[in-house]
Amino acid sequence: MASPTLPDELLSRLDLPAFAPGSVWLVGAGPGDPGLLSMLALHGLRHADSIVYDALVDERVLLLARPEAERIYAGKRGGKPSPKQPDISDRLIRLARGGQRVLRLKGGDPFVFGRGGEEALALVAAGVPFRVVPGISSGIGGLAYAGIPVTSGGEDAAGAVALVTGHASNGEVPDGIDWTALARGAPTLVLYMALKHLEAIAARLLAAGRAADEPVALVSRAATAAQRVLETTLGRAAADAAAAGIEPPAIIVVGPAVRQRRVLDWLTGAADPEDSAG
Ligand code: SAH
Repeated sequence: MASPTLPDELLSRLDLPAFAPGSVWLVGAGPGDPGLLSMLALHGLRHADSIVYDALVDERVLLLARPEAERIYAGKRGGKPSPKQPDISDRLIRLARGGQRVLRLKGGDPFVFGRGGEEALALVAAGVPFRVVPGISSGIGGLAYAGIPVTSGGEDAAGAVALVTGHASNGEVPDGIDWTALARGAPTLVLYMALKHLEAIAARLLAAGRAADEPVALVSRAATAAQRVLETTLGRAAADAAAAGIEPPAIIVVGPAVRQRRVLDWLTGAADPEDSAG
């Protein structure tokens, strides 16, 4: 084993900001692979007194923290009892007011559908200083692990990508989204938290004029050892996902970028170089 102090010495060369006692860092852990953590996230882990972490965070990431740091699970999982959002924010505030360096560790990027924005607002309201450490979002980096370059569209150049939630806070398909405008406005749609309502969401996109044979990929547990990718079409997506037993968390992408996977699936090595000619 390498000396556990080595990363600290290397990090000290980067002039990273000090983690002040009484402050909170909202840190993104990336989609899965611990190698996708940022230097700043690692630096925060090496200095935090308490770490409040989510269900989607790899346990190996927690092992990077100081052994004496307190680890507090605040995972939320649909259907199971989970801490309420205001309780999590209150906890962060109380820990920080107690003089701790508090690291709030979230999957992906803390400001992309992770309710990190809400937590930051609560910290501001409470007068608790904070810093945001962005992470690699599953809807971008997770797709890259499936060989899908999110803004690329081949011949049907994808000049716009929309990040969409498929799950409103009441558990239903979000009503606040103008699905027709969305369907027409962005060639590539990246759907977070959309597995449960995929049938209803696909129906809305089809009703708005998206083609039934449009390519769709579902990437389950992206950037983990359990990553699974299902390629299908908009018309068949919900039925195929159910038949294949695709499990959450899954990111769903609709649009021309999915076709590039045939050539770019670097992770499983299933890419076919012959395809790039055609
Ligand atoms: N802040 C996170 C998103 C939190 S919302 C981010 O930036 O990635 C939770 C949703 O994110 C899940 O329902 C799923 O759609 C997606 N997600 C997060 N991690 C994922 C992973 N490793 N693989 C596939 N989807 C993931």
